[in-house]
Formats: sequence, C-alpha cells, structure tokens
Amino acid sequence: MISFFRPEIDVMTGYIPGEQPKRDSKIIKLNSNENPYPPSPKVKDVLHNFDWEWLRRYPDSSATEFRHAVSEVLDIPANWIIVGNGSDEVLNLVIRACTDSGRKVVYPMPTYVLYRTLVEIQPAQRVEIDYSQDYKLPIEELVKVNGAITFIATPNSPSGHIVPIEDLRELASRLSGVLVIDEAYVDFATDDALSLVKEFDNVISIRTLSKGYSLAGIRLGFGIANPKLLQGLYKIKDSYNIDAIACAIGTAAIRDQSYKKNNANKVKASREKLAIALEELGFKVWKSQTNFLLVKPPFDNAEYLYSNLKEKGILIRYFKQEGLEDKLRISIGTEEENKVLVAALIRAMNEIL
Ligand SMILES: *Cc1c(COP(=O)(O)O)cnc(C)c1O
Repeated sequence: MISFFRPEIDVMTGYIPGEQPKRDSKIIKLNSNENPYPPSPKVKDVLHNFDWEWLRRYPDSSATEFRHAVSEVLDIPANWIIVGNGSDEVLNLVIRACTDSGRKVVYPMPTYVLYRTLVEIQPAQRVEIDYSQDYKLPIEELVKVNGAITFIATPNSPSGHIVPIEDLRELASRLSGVLVIDEAYVDFATDDALSLVKEFDNVISIRTLSKGYSLAGIRLGFGIANPKLLQGLYKIKDSYNIDAIACAIGTAAIRDQSYKKNNANKVKASREKLAIALEELGFKVWKSQTNFLLVKPPFDNAEYLYSNLKEKGILIRYFKQEGLEDKLRISIGTEEENKVLVAALIRAMNEIL
C-alpha cells in the first residue's frame, strides 16, 4: 500500500500517554505524575474574574505577563525565557530547530520517553546510551557522541534520581551542541541547574507548571537560556502558542510560591513515608527527588501488580521496556490515596501467594 507519510512516520510508534480516566470516576490516578493537590486558589480567582470579552483578540505572542512573573520569581531577565504549550512544546522547538539527517540527538536511558518520539519524527540520528545500575551520568560516552542536542532529565523519570550539578557543568563545558536540562520535577528536588544557564550559552533549562504547580490541564511550560539560544526557537514557534487564559492562570500560579512550596513539602513528606511502607513490603525503592517512586516488587511480577491494581481502580505506570520490565513507577498521591495503594498492593500480593 502506498503511504501518505514520510518513511520516518511510517516506522515510528507514537508516544503513549498514561491512561486518563473520566473526570468523575473514582479511579485513583498515580500514573502520570500529576500533583495530587489542586492548583493555587489564586488560579480560581483569575478564572472567576477573567474578562471573557477579550477572548476575541489573539493572545500576546510571547506571553509577556507570564515571562515577567517568571523573571521576578527566578531572578532571570525576561528575554531569557521562552514559553511553551507545555514544556513538551519547548522540547519540540529545540528538536525542530537543531536537527537534520546528519545530526545526532543523544540522551541516557531510561528517561522521558517523549525524547525518542520527538527525534523519530525528524530526519535525525538518535543515539541512546544506557545508564549504569547506579544511574551515574555517562559523561564520557555522551561527550564522545557530541550531539547537536543532548537531553538530560534531572531529576530523571522514571528513575527519580538527580544528576549532580558538577556532572552537568562538566558536560556543558565539553559539548559543542545544545545541552537540554529538563527540570520538570525541580519543585520536588534539592537542587536546580539555573546557574549553568548563566554560565554556558549552550544550556537550556526546561520547566513546567504541570507538576509542581498542579496545572497539567492548562499546558504551560518554559525554557530558560541565553537569548542567543532562544532566538532560533522564537523564529519557529507558533505565533499564538499560549492562550490568554493559560497566560493569566500561569502568572497567578507562579507568583504564589508559598502555596507551591507548601504542596511540594507535603508531597515530599508523603514520598518518604510511602517509600518506607513499600520497603517494609519487600520492594526495592530507588531514592527519589520527584513526585513519584520507581520500585521493584519483591517477586518478579511488576506487570501482574500493575494489572491487578488497575482492576482495583488504581492506575500506576508499567513500562514494557528493556530494564524496566521488573519495575513500577508510582506517582505520589494524597496521604489517603497512598494508604489505599499500600492496602491494595498487600491484597494483590496475597492473592498470588
Ligand atoms: C511531565 C514531564 C514533562 C512534560 O511536561 P509538560 O509541561 O506537561 O509538557 C517534560 N519532561 C519530563 C521529564 C516530564 O516528566
């Protein structure tokens, strides 16, 4: 059969997002690393008072109001910021601006699955390097590839580990291409890579409001880099990629740092509690600086536990992927949800014994 598509599109699989149950269903959703708490009450005020008549106009093409809020909160000039329809869009802009069939895109595995999807769409060479068991950054191998783009998610998904800043600094200094530091989980971590953006003109830090700010539903993320690096990304982005409502909501949310920090603290406390509870059940639990845990069940039955929990109305993430077949990724829920999860895991494990 003749295809309508480019060969790259014919052979690719496409990204498979975590399942999204209907809004009112009783399902406990711990599969997409969403925040278990609602967004800032300031968001509610913005929605309530939003001047709906203005929606007839196109929105501000560079989300100026939001960029200025980010600028104040992170103490970085507003022209060092580019805003995306989710941080996924910013990742996509980097890929589209920097790749061609002769250029390499490299990242350590396992990591955020979308990097592979985005590269597969392009004519570009994909190079994947395995993390060792202890998730130490394979600096030498990454430098040897010297990709047009190197992606590092830190803290990483699905492992939850953070890459030490000195490792990132060494990598940035030895690469000639762009180093993308994907900091989607920075709000739950002990450190961030913002200083490297100021030190190196080939580094872009990517942030999102989806996780720390409980705003996955509005699709808002941003990149921080030297204006020289942002210039190419601004050229290719859709003119009106951020809608007026998202811009207003995001501005209110990012200004409410105390609310965000308070929620992050709750999530971190629950994370440590859940880690202990799962260890007591015999799970191996990786140290996490995120809002999820990577765990390995005591018996080799990760996929079974995933399906069994799904039948019990609890969604967690199972990746049928090399190195992850025996593991599960569990987003941190509310205290109540985590209790229900642990009880369900105990039942699921008893059902097979
Ligand atoms: C969730 C996630 C993103 C996507 O964030 P959006 O802003 O919702 O597009 C990006 N990178 C990593 C590593 C993530 O886990």
